[in-house]
Amino acid sequence: MVSEADCLFCRIVAGEIPARVVLETERTLAFRDVNPQAPTHVLVIPKDHYRDAAALAAADHGLADEVLRTAHTVAEQEGVAEAGYRLVFNTGPEAGQTVFHVHGHVLGGRGLTWPPG
Ligand code: 5GP
Ligand code: ZN
Repeated sequence: MVSEADCLFCRIVAGEIPARVVLETERTLAFRDVNPQAPTHVLVIPKDHYRDAAALAAADHGLADEVLRTAHTVAEQEGVAEAGYRLVFNTGPEAGQTVFHVHGHVLGGRGLTWPPG
């Protein structure tokens, strides 16, 4: 397991910080965002620590694929897959990334505007 001591999401994976888990696979975890921006707002992470989507894609294609598939399963489970949902990986500070353990936001359950701010 690739993990960083001071990382918030590594601590969620380790069970040191509670989270409302909606789906777990062998190498990924999906849990509700603590500050939801839509009726469905779930974060999907690899259990291993990579700082952002670029680092994950460069390091482990199989794991990147598992994260994507978990995100789509979450959308189905949440009942938003058919109407449509958004999958966002904020990558780097200018994109608004605040937690540097790669995570996909699964957002749905309401109409979403485009482009984002
Ligand atoms: P980012 O801005 O890095 O793309 O997204 C980080 C997300 O993590 C934010 O939407 C924020 O609400 C969420 N978040 C921050 N701390 C916690 C926490 O302790 N638990 C959960 N479940 N979500 C968190
Ligand atoms: Zn981490």
